[in-house]
Amino acid sequence: MTTFKDLGVHPEICAPLERKGITTPFAIQEMTLSVALQGTDLIGQARTGSGKTLAFGIPVVQRSVSPKDRDYIDLPQGKPQALIVAPTRELAMQVSAEISLISEDRGLRVLTVYGGAGYEPQIEALEKGVDIVVGTPGRLIDLANRKVLDLSHVHALVLDEADEMLDLGFLPDVEKLVTLTPETRQTLLFSATMPGAIVALARSYMRHPMNIRAESSADTQTVPATAQFVYQAHDLDKPEMIGRLLQCEDHDKVVVFARTKRQAQRVADDLAERGFPASPLHGDMQQAARERVMQKFRDGKVEVLVATDVAARGIDVTGVSHVVNYTTPDDEKTYVHRIGRTGRAGASGVAVTLVDWADLHKWKMINKALDLPFDDPQETYSSSEHFLHDMGIPKGTKGRIKKAVSDRPEKPKDKDAGADGEKRERAPRNRNRQRTRSRGGQVIEKSGAPEGAEAAAKPAEGEASSEGSAPRRRRRRRSSGAGDSAPKADA
Ligand code: ADP
Ligand code: MG
Repeated sequence: MTTFKDLGVHPEICAPLERKGITTPFAIQEMTLSVALQGTDLIGQARTGSGKTLAFGIPVVQRSVSPKDRDYIDLPQGKPQALIVAPTRELAMQVSAEISLISEDRGLRVLTVYGGAGYEPQIEALEKGVDIVVGTPGRLIDLANRKVLDLSHVHALVLDEADEMLDLGFLPDVEKLVTLTPETRQTLLFSATMPGAIVALARSYMRHPMNIRAESSADTQTVPATAQFVYQAHDLDKPEMIGRLLQCEDHDKVVVFARTKRQAQRVADDLAERGFPASPLHGDMQQAARERVMQKFRDGKVEVLVATDVAARGIDVTGVSHVVNYTTPDDEKTYVHRIGRTGRAGASGVAVTLVDWADLHKWKMINKALDLPFDDPQETYSSSEHFLHDMGIPKGTKGRIKKAVSDRPEKPKDKDAGADGEKRERAPRNRNRQRTRSRGGQVIEKSGAPEGAEAAAKPAEGEASSEGSAPRRRRRRRSSGAGDSAPKADA
């Protein structure tokens, strides 16, 4: 069982939680913490009662400088370091109580401000100095206008229950508040739904936010814990993208969904030819062959399954870290069903959807039906910086780990493949890799493939090494050796 400590939460924050009997993170917390603790912007969607407050509260508190450390860090004394905006007085008070709890041992001063209460005590507290301000939009604006609330040192901004703020007509106030904080801040936005106005807000004020949606797997069939990425991609570049993805830091098993049997076969052949242990799974294969493939996939001998929807029905394999939609699914049900192949049973995963130009309209329908924030997927190539960054793919990685066979006269690739020991430059350290790592930790826990220093990942008994460690070793060898060709050769 992953603990808060495992996710990198400071002992001074774990301690007060433990005193309340809180030791094990809820799903949304497990998914967001290690990412948010790095300072990454994120959008969290999860239902009421799922534990969103600690999901943002812990990073906010941990990343605030405790007065104890003020002597060492040059910061103006007593100016708010973090701002949490909540729609109502009740919610502000609830959030504040939880923030106060986890701030206790760090000695951070938390102030709650809301309308309908006297200004004096709030002003007095602000003048004495506070570290974290929790409040409702109207009163926050008031205090800022009176120049008693200085938001120019805020490094973390949280918009809690953003959709409710929209419903209550607070969005203009919220925007105003956002603009009073430094652009370099971390922004965390939590919302149960993602109406257009909230997406627009996120788009204007957040930097490459990571989207995390957590559902309780107990009572829905949908996406228990899946981080979703949607890219507008080019058909000819997709195999290369997947080839690179297959070398990202924290992957385990991968399922690629294809539209047709033919496509499944073609993509699997292409990946195999690139050197990846891939196999198709489709209805033209005989039952026995399909079962063999599934067994190999379970055992980790086949790392990538390229499947059609029909053939993939009922796949329930632990340790699927990534689902790739090679083509846009036909409707939202299919989408949810496909990405539900990863992150099962509370374990988390990554879903990557590649949208062709021609499928853009279809994707927008799915996006709308599911209230997702990817209405306009970013145009993405296998060499795109953001793709490598999002996926945690080391820089310089090629989508091929085996020399092209001679009947495919491509660019001379991999001429320096096998240059073992040559350290590859890494893509910038990133939220998603962080996330997949920690969340990978959980997946790994299920499949029994502990990764190096990640103390979080403990193999579950019974499912020992066969599923995870073998492919992992393969990957290592692969990533230290092959694919180190000159960065110029791509795209
Ligand atoms: P949300 O904001 O998603 O509606 P809250 O953050 O208010 O949910 O959390 C709901 C309740 O669950 C709170 O009483 C909180 O103290 C409790 N809680 C949150 N995280 C945990 C956890 N990891 N373990 C046990 N209880 C938790
Ligand atoms: Mg809440």
